[in-house]
Amino acid sequence: MMSPTSLTDHSKLCVHTITTKPWSVEESMDKYTEAGIGGITVWRQWLEGRDIAKVGDQLRDRNLEIVSLCRGGFFPSKTEPGLKEAIEDNKLAIREAAELGAPLIVLVCGAVPGQPLEESRKQIADGIAAVLPLAEEHNIKLAIEPLHPMYADDRSAINTMASANEVCDQLNHPLAGIAADVYHIWWDPDLEEQIRITGEKDRLFAFHICDWMTPTADLLNDRGLMGEGCIDIPGIRAMVEATGFDGFNEVEVFSDRWWSQDQDTFLKAIKEAYLKHS
Ligand code: ZN
Repeated sequence: MMSPTSLTDHSKLCVHTITTKPWSVEESMDKYTEAGIGGITVWRQWLEGRDIAKVGDQLRDRNLEIVSLCRGGFFPSKTEPGLKEAIEDNKLAIREAAELGAPLIVLVCGAVPGQPLEESRKQIADGIAAVLPLAEEHNIKLAIEPLHPMYADDRSAINTMASANEVCDQLNHPLAGIAADVYHIWWDPDLEEQIRITGEKDRLFAFHICDWMTPTADLLNDRGLMGEGCIDIPGIRAMVEATGFDGFNEVEVFSDRWWSQDQDTFLKAIKEAYLKHS
């Protein structure tokens, strides 16, 4: 095991807009800036009805680094029109990222209940391959985020770093890589080795943090703040940093419990938990 270093400031802290879900993108950018947070990952829903390029300017005016756009993916479908629609939506996401000035899109790759995972994985690889030329045109990285196997039914057929690496090997493209999220991968006995391989292949594009609650009350919206659960976040961060990764530590917490509280208090708690438990 590697020994983790401690975080001493918030310059590499990035917060996902969904983490502070009650806030609009405008409120989020002001609050994050006030709090001295270094980066922001914008979820697409937060851009609805907005001039995306203008939002990008507003973020840059505040010196908030735009870390990524969340999210693309959901490639698999049982029908031809469904497959085409997914590709169109991912192309739209790439154009949105370019307008915003985000260098990367996180892909939640998708799955269809009842469809063999093998078939879904093939559709995912084909779908990413179909949008890579546009990604290339705009120089936008695409990061496959392996999801915890509890989501293999309808959210992602890519459930381990090894599986994500397999798809990246097939694609063999410098803009195709991986977003490592501790929530999804902390349990993997091959984690250290897979993170090392991902780094070696220059495809470790993003690092997401939060915690795993015991018991987990809701499969989607009961993530913990760092330190509230059982994930060795500093240990995993050490593995990630050992590859030479020097990007942001992105706090991505979906939590009905935290969303129901005062978001200013929550943001303070995020900053504290970041230094103490990440
Ligand atoms: Zn994530």
